[in-house]
Amino acid sequence: MRLFDSYTREKKTFHPISTKEVGIYTCGPSVYAYSHIGNFRTYLFEDLLVRYLRYKGYSVRRVMNITDVEDKAIVQARIEGKSLEQGQRDKVRKFFSDFDELEMLRPNIIARASEHIPEMIKLIGKICSRGYCKKEKDGVYFNVKKFKKYGDLAHLKNRKYLGKMIHDDYAREGLWDFRLWKFWSPADGKTNWKSQFGMGRPGWHIECSAMAMKYLGETLDIHCGGSDNVYPHHENEIAQSESATGKKFANFWLHAKHLTIGKKKMSKRTGNVLYVKQLKKAGVPPKCLRFYLTSEKYRNSLDFTIEKFKSKVCNCEQTRKMVTRLKKNGGSGGGKVGERIAKKIIGGFEDAMDDDLNTKLAYRRIFRIMKDVEKLIKEKKLTKKDSLAIISAIEKIDDVLRVF
Ligand SMILES: [Zn+2]
Repeated sequence: MRLFDSYTREKKTFHPISTKEVGIYTCGPSVYAYSHIGNFRTYLFEDLLVRYLRYKGYSVRRVMNITDVEDKAIVQARIEGKSLEQGQRDKVRKFFSDFDELEMLRPNIIARASEHIPEMIKLIGKICSRGYCKKEKDGVYFNVKKFKKYGDLAHLKNRKYLGKMIHDDYAREGLWDFRLWKFWSPADGKTNWKSQFGMGRPGWHIECSAMAMKYLGETLDIHCGGSDNVYPHHENEIAQSESATGKKFANFWLHAKHLTIGKKKMSKRTGNVLYVKQLKKAGVPPKCLRFYLTSEKYRNSLDFTIEKFKSKVCNCEQTRKMVTRLKKNGGSGGGKVGERIAKKIIGGFEDAMDDDLNTKLAYRRIFRIMKDVEKLIKEKKLTKKDSLAIISAIEKIDDVLRVF
């Protein structure tokens, strides 16, 4: 199986560090707002990765964080007049309700940032003891100049400062060092913890480094996320983790491209967002949405419009219809034709998925074969034995795809 590693920018054959278990860290949701289908496209690609690795016989441990301590969440809770926990409770509940609707396997470990503050403080201490910290009046910063590999993941040109990021971990213009620990300010209200650096709270980036290494060790097999996370979030995760351990943080970095709506990027900031429940009410079943959101290669961007959705999803319905027809098929003897078709279904699927999870090709092959199956059904050339072989092949690959 080959996967495209964003760090080296090439497809590499996947070998896990341990034969026992594959460790995958996937950046989870910020729960200051509800997650939209653009967010879920990334989680769906991660679900396919986990399911396909299991299909291939690997045991997988997937960790996903919930960013429940961060600037936007604190601001939002204040606007709503709620505590941080109250303000996020409903968003977390809805997130997992959509997660289940889209038939995604729950991660083995769901790690809330607020429950891992001691681990973060310890990690910051380690980074500082190795000389990578700078104390300023508003917090403890990571001294980027000291970490020579900074910019390798994002391939920053000449490692030039990219300008102030929107996230306020970059507190001042002209400074690309990012905050590991933020000192308490009145705007934080009750959100603060004691530490050897002073009262305050962790920066966003340190959360993932601390939780990933706690559950998966100092080097992960695979780290996933959306392409928006490459810089600065993942770049900073690498800087923090590798400066603390001196070891490579992740063997593979996988990034999913974003979803657009009418060719415009779907984002909370611009407001052009669609939600799973909203679409369900409008007659888009989550299973069909799952298909649509995985119908393109994860590294390509995908555009969502109702027209495009309808034209694509009919292929999927056609396959489902064929399976129902096959279940009714009788007749004795035969079996050879069915076996041959089943082999083709499985072979085509595995070959496509082994090539960096090429779902687009996998679907195309399945639909083409099912067209032939339809013809054979019409010509009454399939017996019960043939039909059962085809159904069992579809069911096998649907353990991964979950769309039929
Ligand atoms: Zn993260």
